Amino acid sequence: EGAIRFEDVRFGYDPDRQILKGVSFEVPAGKSVAIVGPSGAGKSTISRLLFRFYDIQGGRITIDGQDIAAVTQESVRKVIGIVPQDTVLFNDTIAYNIAYGRPGASEDEVRRAAELAQIAGFIEKLPDGFRTMVGERGLKLSGGEKQRVAIARTILKAPPILVLDEATSALDTHTEQGIQAALDLVSKNRTTLTIAHRLSTIVGADEIIVLKAGEIVERGGHEALLRQG
Ligand code: ADP
Ligand code: ADP
Repeated sequence: EGAIRFEDVRFGYDPDRQILKGVSFEVPAGKSVAIVGPSGAGKSTISRLLFRFYDIQGGRITIDGQDIAAVTQESVRKVIGIVPQDTVLFNDTIAYNIAYGRPGASEDEVRRAAELAQIAGFIEKLPDGFRTMVGERGLKLSGGEKQRVAIARTILKAPPILVLDEATSALDTHTEQGIQAALDLVSKNRTTLTIAHRLSTIVGADEIIVLKAGEIVERGGHEALLRQG
């Protein structure tokens, strides 16, 4: 479940400037594909189109064979979890920020997700910038900790498809390793699309696609691409 297919997808934010110039690739159910390429290549645009934020202007995007243009944005988002580069938390406890991943989840389920993401120690706190009714200040979270909240939310949501948007690129190596373990856990047996700037941040993708100026210029396994540099 969760197979993604882009067939000759064409798209531009402005009609006179094509950003994706006929992009085709497939992520078989349960497999992992990473998209790398320079800034401005159109990588994030691919994830936005998968979320149906915009309508494509040519080609087709399917999930499990279903054209996503034929269903609501809401139903598309239901099957996709995202760990964004920058996680925005809202004014409620970290636990509630996690529970948002799956409304109706029990306290135990939220706690378990938090444990897997290694943030169980502070889920009763509010995020930074907010205050409780008795004036207690929110907890200052690092970028990595915020990402763990997003990971916990995704663990709880357990969607068939996972999108990792430059998941670990902005973090220092020490934090990155902890996050990587948590990410490996969420992406296991799940269709995963990773968007990254650098080849070096991608671990264990079944296929890597190199996107340049809206076109796929290379694809293959990790080692073959590293050899080419
Ligand atoms: P990447 O993720 O590879 O860095 P993006 O997909 O974010 O690239 O952007 C591809 C191109 O589309 C860039 O030239 C960018 O300036 C342009 N772009 C991105 N978002 C918008 C937008 N909302 N409106 C117009 N142009 C955009
Ligand atoms: P759900 O309630 O199904 O989890 P959300 O309302 O949280 O859906 O939205 C889905 C996700 O889309 C959000 O986590 C948001 O961060 C993400 N998102 C926002 N902008 C972009 C973007 N440009 N590209 C990809 N994902 C994005």
